[in-house]
Amino acid sequence: MLFVEKKDGCWLWKGKLHGRDHDYGYFRISNGRTGVRDILSHRWAYEYYKGPIPSGLSIDHLCSVRNCVNPEHLEAVTTAENNRRSVARGRHR
Ligand SMILES: [Zn+2]
Repeated sequence: MLFVEKKDGCWLWKGKLHGRDHDYGYFRISNGRTGVRDILSHRWAYEYYKGPIPSGLSIDHLCSVRNCVNPEHLEAVTTAENNRRSVARGRHR
């Protein structure tokens, strides 16, 4: 992948970032006649390496590094579980 710095531990996304804090990696793909679509890089990485994300689930970063795309650091969880973990890690706002 073009925009990933793979190393031991976190694979850091080197492409564009977005989100309120510009901390989630994303890239834009052309979607034929319907235009373009933004893909979150950690969701893409999860699906590429581990398989489809069950519908309704969020991807949690076990390492809390939000531009990390190492599939070993990603886990599909419910939104409620994701929020619970966020609070536990003290990053909830
Ligand atoms: Zn990581």
